[in-house]
Amino acid sequence: MTTAAPSALKAVTILGATGSIGLSTLDVISRHPDRYRVFALTANTRTEELFQLALTFSPRYIVVRDEADALQLQRRLHEVGRETDVLFGAQGLHDVAAHEAVDSVVAAIVGAAGLESTMAAVKAGKQVLLANKEALVMAGHLFMTAVAESGAVLLPVDSEHNAIFQCMPGDYRSGLARVGVRKILLTGSGGPFRTTPLSELASVTPAQAVAHPNWSMGPKISVDSATMMNKGLELIEACWLFDARPEQVQIVVHPQSVIHSMVEYIDGSVLAQLGNPDMRTPIAHALAWPQRIESGVGALDIIARGRLDFQEPDYARFPCLRLATEAMQFGGTGPALLNAANEEAVAAFLAGTIRFTDIPRVIERVLGEISAVEPQLLSDVQTADREARQLAAAIISDNR
Ligand code: NAD
Ligand code: MG
Repeated sequence: MTTAAPSALKAVTILGATGSIGLSTLDVISRHPDRYRVFALTANTRTEELFQLALTFSPRYIVVRDEADALQLQRRLHEVGRETDVLFGAQGLHDVAAHEAVDSVVAAIVGAAGLESTMAAVKAGKQVLLANKEALVMAGHLFMTAVAESGAVLLPVDSEHNAIFQCMPGDYRSGLARVGVRKILLTGSGGPFRTTPLSELASVTPAQAVAHPNWSMGPKISVDSATMMNKGLELIEACWLFDARPEQVQIVVHPQSVIHSMVEYIDGSVLAQLGNPDMRTPIAHALAWPQRIESGVGALDIIARGRLDFQEPDYARFPCLRLATEAMQFGGTGPALLNAANEEAVAAFLAGTIRFTDIPRVIERVLGEISAVEPQLLSDVQTADREARQLAAAIISDNR
């Protein structure tokens, strides 16, 4: 193993480099070769894309899922004279998340699959740029305890939480009441089915569900936006990140996605962060924090935007919002059960196995049949995740 020359460049690992957030992060990084160097990139199965990214960014390591793919990529990289080492599997992800040469880890794997590597970065005390909201939803208490113990710096990349972070005073961790914050206004577009007649929801297709009106994202989070489970997960995410009670977080439907969220203070002030809906803004903010860098996102033309609308969320249309609130109230492994059932249901919907309106039904049954417990260890969260997936899979196959 060769040792990199000491450098003032920030060394960045991107977990989930081939995804929507991963590629947006690389776009921002490529604009600032004087500030960042790519230390490691990981992918699950898109090995050819990862190979091309390795040629462009010359990381010290890349990580793939399977050993056979790793061996093949290693051979190809050597053939073209590259020094990138190829690792594989959970150990590979852990190693590049916790490596002593890494400054910042972008946690951009989708779903529960990102939990262990994100936790490894947290426990190693890294600056963690958190996109993988599912990890925090599943293991909120253990996750935030690990942040406090290791001194990791947690920077939210999810656009709403990044907006809230930007609107909070610097010392918000001393308690929202102490810093004069009354509540958080968590905005969401309402997704592609905000105005679709309710009678048509049962027959919407995966292609319609992933066609988000404002944001371009991976398939899982796009479906979550269509059911508004994404906003439910984000409510839980906000409670952990900002130490807020659920009743201090108000969900506001804002179809234009110009305001990315707001913070209301006791003196009546409401601070908002606005911008074009492009994830490169929160990514650049988190990468450079507490400084600012150019992100490639164009200026917001507020005159052209013309108007901003706000509505109450429709709980009858979006039962996932209620389910997420209930899971949060159960506490303990409740949110992990919710998340696992949701991941299974979304995958089944995308595969054409269940209808869009079956997604909340599967989750509701899982939450009704498995009790939440207080997890002591990450393995307790993983057990709850496994049980919920098994039950969800059984419900889905009965449903067929
Ligand atoms: P995506 O599907 O586009 O990309 C997912 C990435 O994770 C890919 O690089 C893939 O290789 C990797 N991955 C998938 N399964 C894996 C596994 N089992 N093991 C290891 N790696 C695996 O997803 P995305 O839209 O980029 O979302 C990533 C995360 O960021 C999600 O948690 C999502 O909720 C969050 N997020 C995304 C956006 C967005 O605009 N895309 C916005 C806010 C938050
Ligand atoms: Mg979001």
